[in-house]
Amino acid sequence: MSEINRTRDEICRVGASLFDRGLTAGSSGNISVRLSDGGWLMTPTNASMGALEPTRLSLFDATGRLVSGDKPTKEAFLHFSMYGERADAAAVVHLHSSYATAVSVLRDIDPDDVLPALTAYYVMRVGRLPLVPYFAPGDLDLAHAVKALASKHHAVLLANHGPVVAGTSLANAQYATEELEETAKLFLMLQNHALRPLTPEQVADLRARFSLS
Ligand code: ZN
Repeated sequence: MSEINRTRDEICRVGASLFDRGLTAGSSGNISVRLSDGGWLMTPTNASMGALEPTRLSLFDATGRLVSGDKPTKEAFLHFSMYGERADAAAVVHLHSSYATAVSVLRDIDPDDVLPALTAYYVMRVGRLPLVPYFAPGDLDLAHAVKALASKHHAVLLANHGPVVAGTSLANAQYATEELEETAKLFLMLQNHALRPLTPEQVADLRARFSLS
């Protein structure tokens, strides 16, 4: 099977998996993958992640021009903001997942690093998670705000909205998004409990051991 058809199938499979497990609802959430010719495949606007059709995915060429498929998600600019700043990004996942979005609404979170290092896997898959200020859907200032953080962070949390996560493969972007969501869930479960997150030394040790940026 060709790269593009394999990628089409993989996007639909990942979308269905995220939808079936309640990580995205309605027509929210979107996925994109960068192809080896420099183009992109992206989920279309108004499509349920639970019922994506491989042939209807939006196909862009390397200049960002839509070549075939349905109109892309209105949030395509979030994906291109990530790709523009991260040469290593091969895929981007954006969800309105419940726990991460709930955390994005909390008043007293640290905008430079939203979630504490509760587990080693969170540090390894996500690392530091900055909060992008709230902008209305479609406001291009949101693209600028994401771009400003994307060169240093492969994962960002949009305030009152949800996470945007880039990965070196679709699987890596998916797993990091799921790790972020699980950590947000733990964080909310632990509200009003005294926390003992990993220490800065333990985090630094993980970064060195696993060559994390
Ligand atoms: Zn969104």
